Amino acid sequence: MTYADVIVDITAKALDRPFQYLVPEDLEPEVEEGTIVEAPFGNGNRKITGYVMSLSHTAQIDPEKIKPILGVVTSSSDEEKRLTALAVWIRDRYGSTMASAMRTVLPARKKTAARQKKIVVLAVGEETAHRELDIMRRKHQSARVRLMEALVEEKKLPYEICAEKLHITSAVVTALVRKGLVTVERTRVYRNPALPEGFSRREAVLNEEQCRAVDMVCGTWDEGPCGRFLLYGVTGSGKTEVYIELIARAVAMGRQAIVLIPEIALTYQTMMRFYHRFGGRVSVIHSKMSAGEKQDQFDRARQGDLDVMIGPRSALFTPFPNLGIIVIDEEHEESYRSEQSPRYHATEVAFQRAKLEGACVVLGSATPSLEAYYAVQTGEITQIRLMKRAMDAQLPEVRIIDMRDELPAGNGSVISQELQSRMRETLGRGEQIMLFLNRRGYAGFISCTSCGNVIKCPHCDVSLTLHKGGRLLCHYCGYETVMPVRCPECESPFLRTFQTGTEQVEQEVSLLFPDARIVRMDRDTVAGKDGQLKVLAPFASHEADIMIGTQMIVKGHDFPDVTLVGILMADLSLNIPNYRAAERTFQLLTQAAGRAGRAQRAGAVLIQTFQPSHYAVQCASRQDYDSFYRQEISYREMAGYPPCGSLVAVHMSCADQEHLLLAAGYVKQFLEKILGKAPVQILGPVSEPIAKIADVWRQVIYLKGGSSALLRAARNRLERYIELNDGFSTVEITFDSTI
Ligand code: ADP
Ligand code: ZN
Ligand code: ZN
Repeated sequence: MTYADVIVDITAKALDRPFQYLVPEDLEPEVEEGTIVEAPFGNGNRKITGYVMSLSHTAQIDPEKIKPILGVVTSSSDEEKRLTALAVWIRDRYGSTMASAMRTVLPARKKTAARQKKIVVLAVGEETAHRELDIMRRKHQSARVRLMEALVEEKKLPYEICAEKLHITSAVVTALVRKGLVTVERTRVYRNPALPEGFSRREAVLNEEQCRAVDMVCGTWDEGPCGRFLLYGVTGSGKTEVYIELIARAVAMGRQAIVLIPEIALTYQTMMRFYHRFGGRVSVIHSKMSAGEKQDQFDRARQGDLDVMIGPRSALFTPFPNLGIIVIDEEHEESYRSEQSPRYHATEVAFQRAKLEGACVVLGSATPSLEAYYAVQTGEITQIRLMKRAMDAQLPEVRIIDMRDELPAGNGSVISQELQSRMRETLGRGEQIMLFLNRRGYAGFISCTSCGNVIKCPHCDVSLTLHKGGRLLCHYCGYETVMPVRCPECESPFLRTFQTGTEQVEQEVSLLFPDARIVRMDRDTVAGKDGQLKVLAPFASHEADIMIGTQMIVKGHDFPDVTLVGILMADLSLNIPNYRAAERTFQLLTQAAGRAGRAQRAGAVLIQTFQPSHYAVQCASRQDYDSFYRQEISYREMAGYPPCGSLVAVHMSCADQEHLLLAAGYVKQFLEKILGKAPVQILGPVSEPIAKIADVWRQVIYLKGGSSALLRAARNRLERYIELNDGFSTVEITFDSTI
């Protein structure tokens, strides 16, 4: 006997667990992991759809009581089956509901219909049409008469015209279709992203190092693409060319490729390099596309019109018929972690998808994530290093500036003396400068010098940020108000701004260098379609001398005239309340430093910091990844943080603060009970770093230590417990195992 664990497609959370069904013998060849089936459900044996999670030969309940699967939903194609299997895995790994896992993996499946042009066509000769028309007129079927009259005239009519101009409902059309008088033709209109005109196919001749990298990956491809690799090389070492070559080889084997690139790093230049190699068989998706536009690109992939899909996280779910390789560029990027349920990590999901498809995964980074490098150490991933810069450009000179010396020396500016003089020299040579600020408006808060009160958003537990024109903005909920004249707490008029946002830096720089042309790039100035391009274009064509921006300017763009990079407040990200703070800081500083000297001219990078001796700052200044890794991994080992130990966060939120605290207490008690003497620490409940967002209170409990399987089992039991207790119905509880 074969049994299938089936998750039913019902959104009720309480049913979001597998139910066992019997696989009838005649269906056995068809039913496998990920197959969509029909099965009887509940007392009334209502026919429902479900997803097969796994197969087994042991019955978990009385075999007499196990109902048989009724049939296989035939429309599920092979790629849909594999994606469904992936959703099943995501649900189990990240603790989401099956419904939300399915929505992630097969998005817009039912929601947005593909844009089709429907044409209503007369299906009979004129004589018959006139005879039928007479009958309709006698029966006063005026809508049918309108449509038939128009069709006798035109023979074919676009559906919109029938609907909008003739006011014909779909029921009328259907009725005439049934009578065999008309047919409806559908032609597909693809919303195709503009393909650049007149492009030529181009291939780079790989250098020795790149050839060796390609050989290392393809060396194991006798049966088809396979393996997991980390391509580790500084920005500009030629990784993208290696990806392109690997993809070309996979395509030559009849396979397809997915390339994940963080959205803000996907530049026009990068896109063009893929177009030049693969022509119209490349497509791109991005977050500014509508659901329908994305769906069209997925459909092209499904139909075999594409070989390569480039895009952010969600491109991972492109339904290719025969996927061969997944590339994840800038593998260390935060944007590969989904922030909504299911909270998945793209790299982990890519590994799983590759396993299901029999495909190869190539990660690329100049500053690999601790996870990836750890997997290299344990042998799960093969490392390939690219040591040289492809164009033989020189590495920049990097200096650390101790900001603690500035104020005593009489400099109150955010720009140190040394950076000021370097900027002057650089401008004098007619070269360009990038100033990079760790975070937008991070310290732009207002506080009262009399009572110390910080002005906060009334709905969120965060300080408001001052923007131009005296507006105070909440960056979490968008709440906006005007800057008060007096402190709302003590009425003191002495309010002070601690402002070192990009706008403030821009003001300071324009005072210091009144003749310099400055552009600012942050979330405010790049809002809207093409916003980024509008800021970048003048800088790229050297119509501006200085670009000031948040971290987004460090990625993906190539500006040959930039010879000086200043990093302001480098240590801000060291203070974020997260065990990955040092890793984030190291990555940001290293990547920013990599911006200078990409071209022939050597550049300089100045890192301004209040913590000059911190190992993240020190190692970044030397671009010394190995040394950083050694220090960071020993800290993770000691503290039991990933990748050395497992960590799961239980996020709880509720509009009623008291109720939330009560519920969080029960969750803690339950976890203590089931984990008993297991080597797992239960931390919290505590307020989230931001205790309240948009009037909803937030608490978190962390489970730390033990194996990930143990934490997963605990999570599953907690889920059951929550479902069965009505007290939790107003509390939103989500799990995060990607933190
Ligand atoms: P990465 O992806 O590691 O940042 P790229 O592949 O973008 O590096 O390469 C950096 C620059 O060097 C690009 O302008 C690219 O066109 C060029 N380049 C890379 N490999 C070669 C090569 N073999 N021959 C000539 N130019 C190359
Ligand atoms: Zn006050
Ligand atoms: Zn707010």
